[in-house]
Amino acid sequence: MSFDYEVIVVGLGAMGSSAVYHLAQSGLRVLGLDRYQPPHSFGSSHGLTRIIREAYFEDPLYVPLVQRAYELWADLEKQSGRQLLLKTGGLMIGPPDGVIVGGARHSAEQHKLAHEILSSTELSRKFPMFRLEDNPMAVWEPRAGILFPERAIQTHLDLAARLGARLRFNDAVHKWEPFGKGVRVFTEASSYTANQLVLSPGAWMDSLLGEAKLPLTVERQVLFGSSQLRSRKCFIQINFQSSFANMRLTVSFMAFLILAMG
Ligand SMILES: Cc1cc2nc3c(=O)[nH]c(=O)nc-3n(C[C@H](O)[C@H](O)[C@H](O)COP(=O)(O)OP(=O)(O)OC[C@H]3O[C@@H](n4cnc5c(N)ncnc54)[C@H](O)[C@@H]3O)c2cc1C
Repeated sequence: MSFDYEVIVVGLGAMGSSAVYHLAQSGLRVLGLDRYQPPHSFGSSHGLTRIIREAYFEDPLYVPLVQRAYELWADLEKQSGRQLLLKTGGLMIGPPDGVIVGGARHSAEQHKLAHEILSSTELSRKFPMFRLEDNPMAVWEPRAGILFPERAIQTHLDLAARLGARLRFNDAVHKWEPFGKGVRVFTEASSYTANQLVLSPGAWMDSLLGEAKLPLTVERQVLFGSSQLRSRKCFIQINFQSSFANMRLTVSFMAFLILAMG
């Protein structure tokens, strides 16, 4: 039985656009489908920036994955001639024994990453825009920085198309089913077959999993930023013990400054 494509990727946000690019780079016949025209403002990858950091507080197991991601971002920048990552350095601020500072320090030490531990006093001296109560500590990570997610999606898609991937936008997938040893994918406009299927529809995942019901929930993520931090005209007051009533963790804070340290 022959298939239209070797792989179909559903959803072309940060994850799917990267998958389409890497599959096309491996020489596979790929189709990428999206319900909108990415990059767009409806998915998780919308916005100007995303943090990249090496000293993963969540678990040291992530560090090699992030290190590989740094290599791949550098490679993509080289292939495209576009800047996708800006190293700014990053601060993880929180209680000394809290999840963020304790975890980032553990990862940094285990993987011998460049980092600096700052006491509350050192932190206020080096970054006077923070007025911090409750004597928090900080981990400074010089390799951390920001990615430009929408530019990254566009770049992955441009390069994937150049490598021969077929991309279809504004055509939502509403169903897929087994087809021989592969799959058939139904969109609003058409249907396609492939040996393999990659589902990367982000928050829409639940609607495409069929009977494989997984315990997924969509959570709102809130960001804040201030360009005034750059000019040091703005001060942020943080009380680490206080009332972020809905947070399960002791409050900690990640700061990415477009500033040289010192
Ligand atoms: C506010 C916020 C801040 C974040 N900060 C960071 C950070 O600093 N660092 C970090 O690493 N991560 C961060 N993340 C997480 C990161 O942004 C996400 O993990 C990433 O963007 C997820 O990409 P995605 O491709 O899975 O999802 P999306 O970008 O949502 O892409 C899913 C795509 O699937 C398409 N789609 C959905 N359903 C269908 C369908 N039926 N048919 C066809 N297409 C479909 C959608 O149109 C969309 O284009 C943050 C997330 C948010 C929301």
